[in-house]
Amino acid sequence: MRKRLAVVTVGCKANFADSAGILDKAHRAGFEAVPGHGPADVLVVNGCTVTHRADRDSRAIARRLRRENPGAVLIMTGCYAEVAQEDRDDIPEVDHWVGIREPSALEDLLRFLGGGGSRREDALSEYHAHLLLGRHRTFLKVQDGCEASCAYCIVPKARGASRSLPLREVVDRAVRAEEEGANELVLTGIHVGRYGADRGERNGLAVLIAALLAATSRCRFRLGSVEPLEVTSRLVAILAAEPRLCPHLHVPLQSGSDRVLQRMRRPYTSRQYRARLDMLRREIPGIRLGADVIAGFPGETADDFRETQRLLGDSPLSYLHAFPYSRRAGTESAGWTDDVSAAEKKGRVAALRDSDRAMRSRYLEGQIGKILTVVTETGDAGAGGYLGTSENYVEVLFEAFGARMGELVPVRVHEMQGTLLKGRAAVGRDGD
Ligand code: SF4
Repeated sequence: MRKRLAVVTVGCKANFADSAGILDKAHRAGFEAVPGHGPADVLVVNGCTVTHRADRDSRAIARRLRRENPGAVLIMTGCYAEVAQEDRDDIPEVDHWVGIREPSALEDLLRFLGGGGSRREDALSEYHAHLLLGRHRTFLKVQDGCEASCAYCIVPKARGASRSLPLREVVDRAVRAEEEGANELVLTGIHVGRYGADRGERNGLAVLIAALLAATSRCRFRLGSVEPLEVTSRLVAILAAEPRLCPHLHVPLQSGSDRVLQRMRRPYTSRQYRARLDMLRREIPGIRLGADVIAGFPGETADDFRETQRLLGDSPLSYLHAFPYSRRAGTESAGWTDDVSAAEKKGRVAALRDSDRAMRSRYLEGQIGKILTVVTETGDAGAGGYLGTSENYVEVLFEAFGARMGELVPVRVHEMQGTLLKGRAAVGRDGD
């Protein structure tokens, strides 16, 4: 009988794609994959270290899994395992630590624990780049690492310099995913806008997208996060012209104050950021735009924060991810002493979250009466409907007769309920 292995993922889309790589390795090592909560013989926590909270979540999950599976082998991997060397002694629940830069060590360990399977030389082993199995929206990791030097960020230390998967490999994987039934492929990475730059290419991401569209015929593609200066006119033109590219983009802002941006070592001004958003909105009407914002970066004054609010209040953004600044050991800003008080940070994050709620509601209200194309992710007609994600990245609850998981369903939106939209399959879809 095959041993059972479960993976629990903390963090971003890139980490989810890495988890798919781990499942792939486990399968080759002779394991049967089981759901993340177990029971299992081997449990892998793919941890994240982007904030203190992510560290805490990674540790808490390891402890919970140990309580629930006392006899299992527990492995901690991912960015957290790479960076948090000093935490290792405090978490005796973990049996093995394998950093993200040691994929072959993880593969060897799984082969040893699985007691079987063949070692297949994985052309992508340097940085896993696999499809996430069993999801109806499929993550395709095309790039890893980052060589920007944002003063607050530990990611370059955890993941190393930027490197891109060869274009041929990405295209082959996308074609295979489409043949296997995937209807939405999400292109992920740590710094996706730098795709191809490690090979000296310019506009590598736009070239990659054009190649993916040419090689596939049905599935749609979604870009994750693209840094402001990498939102080029070429990229915008291709997004505007191609109906199989989802009208949704996440463009990290971090601050609306030029003084703070400079101190963060972010390579753009608030004016440049705004110009890129305006170009997106002008060329792609209805596009859903989101941003990350950090509140309480060291030295951020009340005036700086007001500049951020001004930029947000007057922008075409439709959601925000707001984070309080979190000091990460090993980063440049960790040594700075002009920290913003905890109370002040809390108040600023709360204000940003209010803006986020207002932006979301405004955008969602504007969708009522429209027909969105939703990729079906869970549910069934008997249980009262289905839940899926629209092309513009909204969760939609809808009624339909016999939708298949993964199917793209046109849904007429009738109402908004919290952060969801509700609707009914539009007449005329296949099978109606
Ligand atoms: S661009 Fe900046 S924030 Fe993003 S991963 Fe690279 S260093 Fe971190």
